Amino acid sequence: MTLTVLLTGGAGYIGSHTFVALRAAGYDAVILDDFSNARQDVPDRLEVITGAPVRVHRGDVRDAGLLARIFAEHRIGAVVHFAALKAAGESVRRPLDYIDVNVTGLVALLKAMRAAGCGRLVFSSSATVYGTPEVLPVPETAPRGYANPYGFTKLACEQILEQVAAADPGLAVAVLRYFNPVGAHASALIGEDPQDFPNNLVPYIAEVALGRRPALNVFGGDWPTRDGTGVRDYIHVEDLARGHVLSLTRLLETGEGHTVNLGTGRGYSVLEMLAAYSRAVGRELPHVIAPRRPGDVAEVVADPSRAAALLGFRAEKGVDEMCASSWAFVSRRANR
Ligand code: NAD
Ligand code: UDP
Repeated sequence: MTLTVLLTGGAGYIGSHTFVALRAAGYDAVILDDFSNARQDVPDRLEVITGAPVRVHRGDVRDAGLLARIFAEHRIGAVVHFAALKAAGESVRRPLDYIDVNVTGLVALLKAMRAAGCGRLVFSSSATVYGTPEVLPVPETAPRGYANPYGFTKLACEQILEQVAAADPGLAVAVLRYFNPVGAHASALIGEDPQDFPNNLVPYIAEVALGRRPALNVFGGDWPTRDGTGVRDYIHVEDLARGHVLSLTRLLETGEGHTVNLGTGRGYSVLEMLAAYSRAVGRELPHVIAPRRPGDVAEVVADPSRAAALLGFRAEKGVDEMCASSWAFVSRRANR
C-alpha cells in the first residue's frame, strides 16, 4: 500500500519541492500549511507538475484539533515537518513568535503523532545549529550553538526531539541540517518566493536582476576568505528535496533515526554567487561593499560524508544550475 506522508509547511519553498520529489518516488502526500509564507496558487502549480490532485489542509500546525482531524482523515505513515518561521533577523525582534511557531508547533505535532500512533518524523533543521563552526567543513558531531532566536528554536527542537525519542521506542526521527538551499524546480512553476523583504543572498540578487534594487549590498569585504566575502555551501533545492526522499526511505526501512547535513561540501563566496547569477541573467549585476551584517560568520561549509555513507546522498547540481533555475522562476513570475 502507498504510504501517505504529511508535509507541514508543504506549500513553502522546500516543502513544495519535496512534495514533488516524494510523489515522483511513489509516496502519497498531504499538505498542512497556513499560507503565511506561501502563495495561494502553489497547490495548483503542484497539480500541474505532478498531474494529480493535491490534498491541502489550510491551518496552523499549532492547532491540535486540526491535527487530530488530519490524522483521523488520512492514514499518515510519516511526517515531514517544514512549517516554521525562518528569518533570523526578524527573530531577534520577534523571539516569542519564533518560539511559539517553531517550538510549540513541534510539540503540538509530536502530541498529535503520538495520539495517532505515527512514529516516523523528518525534521527541517539547519546549519544554524552549528553557530560559528570551529571546524570546516563542519561534521554533524561539531558542537552546537546559536546566534539568534531562530537558531535557538532549531537547536531547542533538536533537543526536544532527542528527549522525546529517547523516551519513546516507537518514535524514530531524521534530523536534516540544511545548508543554503537555492534554485527552483525545472518547470519554473515553483521556487523561492519571499512574501516581503528578501533577507537571503540569492533572493536579493534576483531583485537586483529584476531591476527592483539598484545593487547587491555585499555584507563585508574583509572576511578572512579567498576574496574577502562570506562563503556558504549552496545546495540546489531539487537536490535537497531528493535528500528528504532518501532520508524518509531509510527511516521507514530501518526504523532508526539519523542526523545528517544536507550540503554539497563546496563553498562559494558572495562575489562568486553574484558572478554565477550574472552568467544566468546574461549581464553583470552591480554590487557595493556594505558593512558586515551583525551575527554573520565568515564561512560555513558542510561535511557531506555522513549523508553519502548513510543515505547514498550526493548533491548533483552546481551553482550555474542553481542560478539559472532561480532566474527562470523569478523572471517568469515577474512577467505574468
Ligand atoms: P518557507 O517559509 O518557504 O516554508 C515554510 C512554510 O510553513 C510556509 O509555506 C508557511 O506558510 C508555513 N507555515 C509557517 N508557519 C506555519 C504555521 N504556524 N502553521 C502552518 N504552516 C506554517 O520556508 P522554507 O525555506 O521552505 O523552510 C522550510 C523549513 O526549512 C523551515 O523549518 C526552515 O526553518 C528550514 N530551513 C530553511 C532554510 C532556508 O534557507 N530556506 C535553511 C535551513 C532550514
Ligand atoms: N549576503 C550579502 N548580501 C545580502 C544577503 C546576504 O552579502 O543581501 C551574504 C551574507 O553575509 C552571507 C551570504 O551572503 O555571507 C549568505 O547569506 P544568507 O542570508 O543567504 O544565508 P546565511 O547567512 O543564513 O547562511
